Amino acid sequence: MYRGRLAPTPSGFLHLGHAQTFWTAHQRCRQRQGQLVLRQEDLDRARCRPEFARAAEEDLRWLGLDWDEGPYFQSQRLALYAEYFRRLQARGYVYACSCSRKEVQEAQRAPNLGDEEPLYGGTCRHGPQHEEIRAWRFRVPERAVEFTDLALGSQRFIGQQDFGDFVVWRPQAGPSYQLAVVVDDALMHISEVVRGCDLLLSTARQLLLYQALDLTAPSFYHCPLVTDEHGVRLAKRHDALALKTLRERGENPPRFTER
Ligand code: GLU
Repeated sequence: MYRGRLAPTPSGFLHLGHAQTFWTAHQRCRQRQGQLVLRQEDLDRARCRPEFARAAEEDLRWLGLDWDEGPYFQSQRLALYAEYFRRLQARGYVYACSCSRKEVQEAQRAPNLGDEEPLYGGTCRHGPQHEEIRAWRFRVPERAVEFTDLALGSQRFIGQQDFGDFVVWRPQAGPSYQLAVVVDDALMHISEVVRGCDLLLSTARQLLLYQALDLTAPSFYHCPLVTDEHGVRLAKRHDALALKTLRERGENPPRFTER
């Protein structure tokens, strides 16, 4: 049985880029007589708000996209993520890191490209340098992670070159996106993940987590990102293109075609 998911982060209003991705996810699921799960990824307590989650659901309905299960809220599933984090700890896949944000930036081995997590220099790999533990990091092996993306074909990322030891847990904040999304996609029996291609490199990280946790990984379909008229990737700051704005202006919902 095909199982897909719609996984908005309610830290702002959805825009046309999200709409394109969610439309594709919905389309692929319905074409295969699958089930679709709605999951609100509201882990970032400082930025996520219930009104954004409500607006996202209204936007999805306005786009004509329905779902069969949920909404689930990641903020209500913290005990589950903790259980899988302990499993990673018990198996020796993670280590405690005391580096501050500044120290991480300073010890970074490669320039930080875009939104990506910096490539951690490995300062605490053999033990934390200070008393205060700020994060638990996954020990990334120096090897290639390969997968076949259903939209983009074969993908290959090299551990410690393309991405470094990434955060899975913070004592102050709990699970990282990487851990929560893997636990959820596995426990919700998602068979195919459809999302934006900005997350392609994160898929390599997540595949390492699936292996470490003995969980079955789904297939992946990464959609091209929508850009504005200047070729700049749409982001939540492009307020004029927020679906809520279009909806409240009385415009017709955008129509998408397969790309
Ligand atoms: N919640 C993420 C986002 O809105 C998507 C995560 C995913 O699809 O894995 O960017």
